[in-house]
Amino acid sequence: MSHFKEEKTFLMIKPDGVQKGLIGEIIKRIEQRDLKIVAIEMFQATPEQVSGHYPKDEVWISRLGDKTLSTYTKYNIDPIKELGTGNNLEIGKMVRAWLIDYMTSAPLVRMVVQGLHAVDMVRKIAGPTLPYLADMGTIRGDFSNDSPILGNIEKRAVMNLVHASETAEEAKHEIEFWFGQKGNIFDYKRFGVDR
Ligand code: UDP
Ligand code: MG
Repeated sequence: MSHFKEEKTFLMIKPDGVQKGLIGEIIKRIEQRDLKIVAIEMFQATPEQVSGHYPKDEVWISRLGDKTLSTYTKYNIDPIKELGTGNNLEIGKMVRAWLIDYMTSAPLVRMVVQGLHAVDMVRKIAGPTLPYLADMGTIRGDFSNDSPILGNIEKRAVMNLVHASETAEEAKHEIEFWFGQKGNIFDYKRFGVDR
């Protein structure tokens, strides 16, 4: 049943991860969990690439807005006063534009990670989206502290060190998008994992 070990996901170290000198730490946490890096590269993204990476459908964009809105509700902040709107789609559109500035502000490191439950495992290692909610022991919880409350005031995206695919479908799309259909994905044996 080796195909279960071949599940792949897409992981990207964001500009703050690179600029905080966390490339090695992030790779270490992936490898120590018996996951295998099968492709890796540092590069500078263009705004067009970042826009192509993040979904453009209204459901996804509204969900971005919902993450801001749930934080505002929790801390009793009025979105209309802060952002001029309480509409999740409108807020999501603002966040999506800020994401493009963020993701093009310094080099990124893109990788493909392979292994048992790779998609869920890498999300677990990364931690949830908003660093203020991320538990210690996760990458986002151990090395970042940010919130839409501050990000929105500063007109920027929430900085949370890494991007990781959320589902197998997202992983497939993102791997093809960033590495091409026959991209440089390597096949090798990890001692203790593959044999
Ligand atoms: N983001 C933000 N404000 C929000 C929600 C998200 O700036 O209220 C940014 C954050 O950098 C996040 C990215 O948008 O990583 C993509 O959001 P998604 O919901 O897909 O989170 P992820 O999959 O990265 O955990
Ligand atoms: Mg996501």
